[in-house]
Amino acid sequence: MFNKILIANRGEIACRVIRTAHRLGIRCVAIYSEADANAMHVAMADEAVCVGPAPSKDSYLKMDTILEVAKQTGAQAIHPGYGFLSENAPFVQKCQEADIVFIGPPASAIEAMGSKSAAKRIMEEANVPLVPGYHGEDQDPALLKRHSDEMGYPVLLKATAGGGGKGMRVVWAADEFDSALDAAKREAMNGFADDTMLVEKYLTKPRHVEIQVFCDKHGNSVYLAERDCSVQRRHQKVVEEAPAPGMSDELRKAMGEAAVRAAEAIGYEGAGTVEFLLDEDGSFYFMEMNTRLQVEHPVTELITGQDLVEWQLKAASGQTLPLKQDDVQINGHAVEVRIYAEDPDNDFLPATGKLEYLRTPEENRYVRVDTGVREGDEVSIYYDPMIAKLIVWDENRDRAMQRMSQALTEYRIAGMKTNTHFLKRLIDNPAFRAAELDTGFIEKHEETLFPGTSGNSQGGSHSANPLALAALYTLLKQGQQRQAEAVHSHDTTSPWHQFSGWRLNEEPALAVRFKVGDEEKSVQVNWLNQGYRLSIDGHIVIADGKLEDDVLKASFNGHNRNAFVAELAGHITVFTDQGAFECQWLHPDLDNHEFEEEGGSLTAPMNGSIVAVLVEAGQKVTKGTSLVIMEAMKMEHTITASSDGTVTEIFYQAGDLVEGGADLLAFEAEEA
Ligand code: ADP
Repeated sequence: MFNKILIANRGEIACRVIRTAHRLGIRCVAIYSEADANAMHVAMADEAVCVGPAPSKDSYLKMDTILEVAKQTGAQAIHPGYGFLSENAPFVQKCQEADIVFIGPPASAIEAMGSKSAAKRIMEEANVPLVPGYHGEDQDPALLKRHSDEMGYPVLLKATAGGGGKGMRVVWAADEFDSALDAAKREAMNGFADDTMLVEKYLTKPRHVEIQVFCDKHGNSVYLAERDCSVQRRHQKVVEEAPAPGMSDELRKAMGEAAVRAAEAIGYEGAGTVEFLLDEDGSFYFMEMNTRLQVEHPVTELITGQDLVEWQLKAASGQTLPLKQDDVQINGHAVEVRIYAEDPDNDFLPATGKLEYLRTPEENRYVRVDTGVREGDEVSIYYDPMIAKLIVWDENRDRAMQRMSQALTEYRIAGMKTNTHFLKRLIDNPAFRAAELDTGFIEKHEETLFPGTSGNSQGGSHSANPLALAALYTLLKQGQQRQAEAVHSHDTTSPWHQFSGWRLNEEPALAVRFKVGDEEKSVQVNWLNQGYRLSIDGHIVIADGKLEDDVLKASFNGHNRNAFVAELAGHITVFTDQGAFECQWLHPDLDNHEFEEEGGSLTAPMNGSIVAVLVEAGQKVTKGTSLVIMEAMKMEHTITASSDGTVTEIFYQAGDLVEGGADLLAFEAEEA
């Protein structure tokens, strides 16, 4: 076994590899770009070397620099992770020349799978079932069309050099063929500088089922069951699970053996994945082989109890595989979702920025979080915006999905758009729960998966009104701030450090204002002896609670519930088991744009200056008497008495500047 390896990657997969390596007593050298100097994988590694500026082509893809670092640091092997140099045959060649082990297959195996049509020819030979179609060298458009006509439509045109869904076109009818071929060729030329095409029968309701295979240097090969990755958007995986729902032992064996034949046909070594389309009638067809560790490998680890990175390290260092085929066992069900910085309601537009607030579910034997970022880290424009993979396991699919739904609500991110609420809707979707899976799942269920609520996914009569939670948060937060100020000033009894609407027999009141989407919402607050009366859209809620850091222990009409709140400069995100709710607190201190006078309040509604004090200390006034005139946001606001009573003390004079929320005067209401 190696005693030192270099990890030619970043993010969650670099951290993932380091974890296993450390467990096996192997030292790790990380490489990083200038943008990643403070990244998690750098902090986790035993040594780290900067290999260049932020763009991948100048750092993580710099083959010679990386090999130089490996030599200098005495690393015996390089783990490429996925992406970057993981399927780059010339890099594998260079490693070999430099006498450094590449933890992956030989260059020849990567090359054999590099072209979709060449791969199909090899698989045909190895007796691996293929989607009916044409993958010959003759590219005469008339010939391609003739093959399509004979197969019958729809057909799928695929660029043989393609990847990531580029250069692919579905042709639904013969008269669309020519224009579709032109478009696919153009896209392929632009993407891969190669417009060679193949034609396949287009399956209209297939599932994507892939087999994990492993081969060692001693001629042993095993398959570690399958993963169902049917839930995709634009041919990119969104949810992966293992085992595939409804998979029979016979079908698993047939697909597994076909996958092993595929791997053996190209002299494979290490971890690989053979992707198949599984048709409704149980027929399966080879699609492609990925010659690396896959993003979704953890679901296989959780159902087999194996560590695939350990297997990779063992195989690459010349050991035999840890298990024989008959010893591979499947236990329970695992599911993985990819948490991305992106906006699902805006065509999954990637998001970037700082992870200002990040809380993850607790990891245990059921829940696993593979991530490469911490709170405060940046999701930059340079790399894949994946924040983490969330993986859960349980005894069966139902329980695993229930657990995933719960874990997603515990994955709390603020400061950046993410897909967590979309993932939760997906996991909770009844058709998904019923395992009605095929690659068109997301399109088919668009209406329920994208309800167009701009991320505010709360609702339902049984859930707490999220606006009430936000309002309660602001009240408790301000109370805490006043108390902190009081402690700081050693004068806890000063009216300066009290936070309440005002102490009148007439209940003191104020309005907390929010912006929710484009709408402005106002919550009317009345102070009670214990707690508050909140009035929201005509509904009254008796609210009370405690705020401990980000945990809001709320009680609404005697019903206790916990929520979590992240606040970034007045931008409030409330997390409950119903999802995340976002609003902007139009706090008087926080650049409040609008203000309406609230009757009965004797506090300054917002930052401003005192224009005039119209009363004196000791003066008796009647309800409605004007007491103080303030100016804020270039507007005058008059604060009036909300009952008959006596002004006992005045805290400000004309010309003074006051902070929003500050008490302006003390008032004693007349006994009725
Ligand atoms: P890429 O290499 O660009 O990712 P693949 O060949 O792996 O392309 O196909 C990506 C996805 O496209 C598959 O997961 C599947 O959803 C869909 N697909 C591919 N071939 C077919 C086919 N013949 N019929 C229906 N869907 C297909």
